[in-house]
Parts: sequence; structure tokens; C-alpha cells
Amino acid sequence: APLNVGFIGLGAMGFPMASVLITKLPQGSKLFIYDVSQDALQRFVKIHPTTSEICDSPRSVAENATIILTMVPEGAHVRSVYLDQHNGLLTHALESKLLIDCSTIDSETSSNVLEAVRAHSPTASFYDAPVSGGTLGAEKATLTFMLGCSEQDDKFPLLNGLLGLMGKTIVPCGGPGFGLMAKLCNNYCSALIALATAEAMNIGIHSGMDPRLLARVFASSTAQSTICDKWNPVPGVVADAPSSHGYQGGFKIQLMKKDFGLAVEAGKRAGATMLLAEAGLKGYTEASQDPKCRDLDSRVMFRYIGGDEQ
Ligand code: NAD
Repeated sequence: APLNVGFIGLGAMGFPMASVLITKLPQGSKLFIYDVSQDALQRFVKIHPTTSEICDSPRSVAENATIILTMVPEGAHVRSVYLDQHNGLLTHALESKLLIDCSTIDSETSSNVLEAVRAHSPTASFYDAPVSGGTLGAEKATLTFMLGCSEQDDKFPLLNGLLGLMGKTIVPCGGPGFGLMAKLCNNYCSALIALATAEAMNIGIHSGMDPRLLARVFASSTAQSTICDKWNPVPGVVADAPSSHGYQGGFKIQLMKKDFGLAVEAGKRAGATMLLAEAGLKGYTEASQDPKCRDLDSRVMFRYIGGDEQ
């Protein structure tokens, strides 16, 4: 049966996700879109003139859609979309609506929104469902969704089917908030692997070694990682990695810094020991403010430590 779906936030990720979604929903379905950027909305309806409709606020998305996805940058934007007193989603009745937030945000905002939704409409459901896989994964519908529910959740089959239109792997992470937790833990780890790989390769390079040979050793030794094999921070080692193309494309350093900071906060709140948090946070914060690294792929940490100066 046709579905009325809302999509809020048509940026680098949301735009391709929404595009893929509307082409795969059942015949007669409609996408109700909202973004603070008029330009993004206009570009979207130009491509999908008969299947999408621009809304002038989150509230008007809620008036039209029964399933609503959000893909905005940070917690503050999620709060505004949901909780704004004039135009937020919660200014409209949300009875039995399915609300899915795919943004990578702090778990506190997410649990506040969950509570607000529950208090507002007991029959509505809200899920955290952040993604991994980048803009390419969004375009090719190969994203991984980390879903804040258990496999036994009565909405899981519906969520699995719907998110499966935009992704390849849907992991139910156990309960509310754990989707976000999984995403933050993953990016904490990935950020440090990238930095460790950059530093280790730099040691070899400074000692006169060929970085490609070093990467070949890593690939079949204990330093092996996806970062090393596919996203190597050293230019010229992996031909199609961003590092080999001036660090263009990939995952922006500012986003990695944001996620790393959120992970460190979550770790502190949980009382977890983190020997590397301080160094990682300092490095990613400084690099994301540095004009020679800003706006580039996060593996530009190799440049930040002076690696490509020789
Ligand atoms: P983006 O900045 O490209 O897009 C965000 C969009 O949200 C923009 O179009 C912006 O206009 C819109 N927006 C901002 N505030 C809004 C509001 N109040 N109401 C409606 N729309 C609003 O960001 P992105 O790269 O698409 O990332 C979105 C989220 O996905 C972030 O949390 C990011 O960490 C996460 N993420 C990004 C990637 C990636 O590779 N870019 C990968 C995985 C996860």
C-alpha cells in the first residue's frame, strides 16, 4: 500500500537517502520534505516532481506523513525539529506515527526527545537509527543502520523493511539509545585507528621506508584495518582513497571531531577508562580548525602531523 513518508534534512546524506527511498517505496507513495535550506528542497522536487512535496515546517510534515525520518547535523537541530514550540513535530498530533532519527547526535538529546514523544503521544514511537557508510553508501543504498531497539521490538520488521530500502545492513542494537551508542563507539575507534595508522606510517616514512611497502606489510599483519586498506591516510598508497586526491570527499574532519567529542562525553558519563581520549580530542579539534585540514576527509590527520611535508 502507498505510504506517506516525511523526510527532514536533505543534506549530504539526507538528499541521496531520500532520493533512493522515494524511488523504492510502493507505487503511489509520497515523500513530504522539509529543510531549512530552500535550495535543497527545490533541487529535490526538481528531480522528483510527482512523488515529493515541499512542506514549510516540521509541523506540516507531521500533518501529512505517518512515518517521519530526520537527518540533520547535531542535537540542537534535532531538538528544534521535534520540540520547537511553534513549528516542531510535537506541535501536531503524532498518534501511531513512526519517528526515526538517523542523525549522529548526543544520546542525551535523543533520550529527551524519546521522553517528549512518549509524553505527547503514547501510541507514537521514536527510534535512534544513525548510519555508517558515507555519502556513497547513501547513494548506493548500502548504508549500515544502527537501530536503537531489540530484534523482538514489535516495530522491528517494519523498520527493517523500510531502512532496508536505503541500507544493506540493519543492526538492532538492543534498545533505545544503543543505536547511537554503537555509532559513537565505532567512530571513536575508527578515528583512533586512522590517527594510529597515520603516526605509524609516518615513523616508517621518516626512517626512509616506502609507505606502499609498509602498507603491504600492515595488510597481512596485526596493524591491518579497513582504514589501512581502503582509507589509508598516506597519499599515494591507496589509489582511490581521498588521501590520494588531496583529501577531497570522504568523511569531513569536522564531523569526525564532533562524533569523537560525543563519544568521549558518553564514555565519561559511563565511567569508562579512555587512555587515548585526550590526545585524540586535541588532535581532531586542532586539525578541524586548521585551514590546511578543514573541510577535508578526516584521514587528513596524516597532513596535520606533518606527514606530507617531506
Ligand atoms: P549536512 O550538513 O550535509 O546536511 C544537513 C542538512 O540538514 C542540511 O541540508 C541542513 O540545511 C539541514 N538542516 C539543518 N538544520 C535543520 C533544521 N533545523 N531543520 C531542517 N533541516 C535542517 O550533514 P550530513 O553530512 O548530511 O550529516 C547529517 C548527519 O549524518 C550528521 O549527524 C552526521 O554526523 C551524520 N553522518 C554523516 C555522514 C557523512 O559522510 N556525511 C556519514 C554518517 C553519518
